[in-house]
Amino acid sequence: MGKSTGAVGWWRGTALWKKILIGLALGILAGALLQEDASLFKPLGDIFINAIMMLIVPLVFSTLVVGITSMRDPQKMGRIGARTIALYLLTTAFAISIGLLLSTLLQPGAGVELSFDESVSPNAAPTLASILIDLVPRNPIDALANGNILQIIVFAIGLGISLTLIGEKGNALVTVFDSFAEAMYKLTAIVMAFAPFGVFGLMAHVSGQYGLEILLPLAKLIGVVYLACILHVLVVYSGFIALLGRLNPKRYLKGSVDAMMIAFSSASSAGSLPISLRCAQKNLGVSEGVSGFVLPVGATINMDGTALYQGVVVLFIAQMLGVDLTLVDYGMIIATGTLASIGTAGVPGAGLIMLSIVMAQIGLPLEAIGVVAGIDRILDMARTSVNVAGDIMVTTLVGKSEGELDLAVYNGSDPASAPR
Ligand code: ASP
Repeated sequence: MGKSTGAVGWWRGTALWKKILIGLALGILAGALLQEDASLFKPLGDIFINAIMMLIVPLVFSTLVVGITSMRDPQKMGRIGARTIALYLLTTAFAISIGLLLSTLLQPGAGVELSFDESVSPNAAPTLASILIDLVPRNPIDALANGNILQIIVFAIGLGISLTLIGEKGNALVTVFDSFAEAMYKLTAIVMAFAPFGVFGLMAHVSGQYGLEILLPLAKLIGVVYLACILHVLVVYSGFIALLGRLNPKRYLKGSVDAMMIAFSSASSAGSLPISLRCAQKNLGVSEGVSGFVLPVGATINMDGTALYQGVVVLFIAQMLGVDLTLVDYGMIIATGTLASIGTAGVPGAGLIMLSIVMAQIGLPLEAIGVVAGIDRILDMARTSVNVAGDIMVTTLVGKSEGELDLAVYNGSDPASAPR
């Protein structure tokens, strides 16, 4: 076959992240021009979302089983688990504090007058016991069928350990999972080739729905959430990578950008998981074992962007209503915001629903959530990108600390340029 030239050749030779960025920008433009008619392109986005959702369960399951069987050291696995949880909690506390700090300084809610009449019912915060009990699947097939990621992780770890313990007898199944995982990576690459079009469809639909008349009254809130998100990624995550990991943060940012853009356009960190796995392994050189464990856990419980957003929005509403908050209230927001973010599902709009937990805790009227509901998708896109960037950051650090990060890949040639 001859070398393709012209537009096709250019398309093939361009790095994936650039193509996704083009899809994203053109989608916003199409939405701005066509407004509600831009929904015409929504099916492109829906097909893409379905395709990445299709990957999650088989990809997570096979990657983790293969990863665990290759680790062969129970102590190491315990250490990885402890480090992962500690880093997830630490970064979430940072995130919510940044949100509170910026909201206090910039006062996005001061002088805002908006009416609200949507009724929102409070949510119950999950108890620690119920979280732990629900980790163990009664029926693994059920967990797989329902895409319950934490239960799938528990079963995959159990299966991986057992396969290691039975030695040679486990080889056949390990080979099957290994080959299955490889096929899933390939399928991810194939789906990702469609990403620029999917992202275009998603963005056209979203941007076509939001006119300036909806966005302008809340422009300051949107600005503060975006600023806090950007600072969190550029300062906190890059700082962790440089100081704790002794790694170049630019490589981390560049290596994560595909996943962050998919998160931005899909507003789902669970949906972005296949791409996060690909970024961590292929662009940043984290091993299958570490990324296969740390990322799915993160996509389920680590929601820094959501925590940050909760801090900003709760203060916004308090400022709007002229409610003075005490230091105790701030402490409450940090504690309940962290818990609520852990309980937030990695799907669009979940953080808005969990906001009622924090609001109820400090006695703000839940109906006020209606004020932000109309623009939530815009905030969701930013917070989901941070959620995903945080998962990849922790994965990189845990990989580095366990000697499970290939420095040659991390520091290597242009990431995302050669689909696997
Ligand atoms: N959409 C977010 C996510 O998937 C969750 C949220 O709504 O805050 O990570």
